[in-house]
Amino acid sequence: MARLRRRLAGSNNVLAQALLGLISSDRLDADTWDDFEATLIGSDLGVGPTTELVDTLRRELSIDGVADPTRAREVLHRELVRITDPTLDRALNLDAADGLPAVILVVGVNGTGKTTTVGKLARLLVAEGRTVLLGAADTFRAAAAEQLQTWGDRVGVETVRGAEGADPASVAFEAVDAGVEKGVDVVLIDTAGRLHNKSNLMDELGKIRRVISKRAPITECLLLLDATTGQNGLIQARVFNEVTDVTGIVLSKLDGSAKGGIVVQVQRELGVPVKFVGLGEGADDLAPFTADGFVDGLLG
Ligand code: GDP
Repeated sequence: MARLRRRLAGSNNVLAQALLGLISSDRLDADTWDDFEATLIGSDLGVGPTTELVDTLRRELSIDGVADPTRAREVLHRELVRITDPTLDRALNLDAADGLPAVILVVGVNGTGKTTTVGKLARLLVAEGRTVLLGAADTFRAAAAEQLQTWGDRVGVETVRGAEGADPASVAFEAVDAGVEKGVDVVLIDTAGRLHNKSNLMDELGKIRRVISKRAPITECLLLLDATTGQNGLIQARVFNEVTDVTGIVLSKLDGSAKGGIVVQVQRELGVPVKFVGLGEGADDLAPFTADGFVDGLLG
């Protein structure tokens, strides 16, 4: 989490700048609040959380009609943590049935960072002393399995892949089957993110889930959302959340986004906790997410 703090602090993050601007302003008049509200909306925080935040701050920081900016940091910190919801369970569910691996399905639109995240997650799990196997169920892009294999080799874990154009569900099954046979702790499955239409997607992910579940229960389904795509990404994420049972969100490319507010909005809209954030392309650039770390990062 120290990493998340470092990355957000001092960045050109619109949300961070709005917050720091409010803290340092010596008058909290109507114009200040209007500007603050507009900037929060522009940071992808979402209308609901923005209204809540502004209403509470206005109420608490204006005493007898006189603005009191000195308490702004303290109230802001508390309220931001509250809207980011520190009570959500963000731990990766690795509770596998007896003798079976935990199975984590990674879904999302192409380019959001699925393959990269599978590699980074494998790295994190291996560092915790767990045994991991990767399944390359994105069989539509020839390069996808290759890319996953490269991650597997780098992290030192086996990758199960099928021929190009193979049925993704059968590759996913083979990976889980190999994971069971080898007695690994976790199988991570990378999927294709083809978003032709909702029913296609539902059929494809539904089939993968059904087939895998014959061998071992899916313990976690992580949805990738690219932080730099803002509202468009959110619309796509909503579709995935509707067609499959998503248990956690990974918000990738937070390092490249100037609008950190999307973290709060996506959780609200999808009703699913953000569990990890991507902070770069490297193997160590995945951080477990916490509300406190996020807010500390924003407020510096
Ligand atoms: P996929 O199509 O969903 O599997 O996406 P990839 O894993 O291939 O990622 C697409 C691109 O995004 C690649 O160039 C990754 O290196 C890059 N990427 C993934 N995660 C992050 C991140 O957290 N930060 C940055 N800056 N780039 C990322």
